[in-house]
Amino acid sequence: MSKTSIYGLTYEQLTDWLVERGQKKFRADQVWNWVYKKRVGQFAEMKNVNKETIELLEENFVLHTLDEAVKQESKDGTIKFLFRLADGNLIETVLMRFNYGLSVCVTTQVGCNIGCTFCASGLLKKSRDLSSGEIVEQIMNVQKHLDAMGEDERVSHIVVMGIGEPFDNFNNLMDFIYVVNDDRGLNIGARHITVSTSGLAHKIYEFADTGTQVNLAISIHAPNNELRSRIMKINKAFPIEKLMKSVDYYLEKTNRRITYEYIMLRDVNDHREEAVQLAKLLKNHRHLAYVNLIPYNSVDEHNQYQRSESETIQAFFETLKENGINAGVRWENGADIDAACGQLRSKQIKKQKESRKTKAV
Ligand code: SAH
Ligand code: SF4
Repeated sequence: MSKTSIYGLTYEQLTDWLVERGQKKFRADQVWNWVYKKRVGQFAEMKNVNKETIELLEENFVLHTLDEAVKQESKDGTIKFLFRLADGNLIETVLMRFNYGLSVCVTTQVGCNIGCTFCASGLLKKSRDLSSGEIVEQIMNVQKHLDAMGEDERVSHIVVMGIGEPFDNFNNLMDFIYVVNDDRGLNIGARHITVSTSGLAHKIYEFADTGTQVNLAISIHAPNNELRSRIMKINKAFPIEKLMKSVDYYLEKTNRRITYEYIMLRDVNDHREEAVQLAKLLKNHRHLAYVNLIPYNSVDEHNQYQRSESETIQAFFETLKENGINAGVRWENGADIDAACGQLRSKQIKKQKESRKTKAV
């Protein structure tokens, strides 16, 4: 049997696994402490753990499945990691610095099948889901990078906004959240974690039912079906009415604020009319709505789109405000290092293909 990632097990799963093999329950506690708090590189480094447990772990698990392929650091402190998975696939993880803490953006799938017309991640079809262990390991690797810098800094926030549609990998997403949130391990507060979905309405119901305190963000990007279907084909399966029904359910169940992401595409969805329509759409639950305006990051393959002018973004923001909607503009991090998730990966894959072509000539 091939070895699996230790990060794929919840605390309870590890406890059961060890007890089934004749080990004492408290060993799980020790192991989690070494793995997540001391962040060892090898099981043999776990000093107070008995030999038998260490041998069992060494025979069945690994602490390392991702290799760092590229690391780019931006002037503003943003660091973008390109990791190679055990099967050779590449994924991206981004560390961002904010005044409130350090936030990591994680990838949940290799590629994305939703295929939004403006997104670099959707350029490559999904080849597989990431396991929960692979998502947890992204956080661990960034934390280990911080440990090595010696500044005693800690990942405090997580945004699930990297490559992939998290709600299309729901069970692994929830296991990941469970592991990073556990106070016996990384202890990252649920309220410090945000999951972004393109609007898989049936999964919004399921997410609400989990009772989690994790924040929800919905990529709305357009206030009517005609426009939304044009830029996001997922709108055909889950049109705005269906989406807003799931939002009603979510709000009823959780009473938690939802962030609506709105990418600013010049002359496409950035007119005053769309701002007014968006405000109308959110009017009924405006006390639990926050609109995040995202200036479009250009993607070579999607040259039909340009970023809205700053004045247009500002005007859109003002119109939302005038109409009673809370909003903000997400001025980007890491602008000099291909900040939009999926871009570094798609560039690297293109480079690899080109070098293969050159070699073949
Ligand atoms: N699949 C999920 C989460 C990953 S995308 C989702 O779509 O919500 C995270 C956010 O980045 C989404 O709001 C997405 O629409 C946005 N995004 C995608 N491509 C972008 C680009 N080129 N510039 C700016 N934002 C982009
Ligand atoms: Fe997939 Fe999100 Fe990109 Fe759409 S925006 S293609 S859902 S990653």
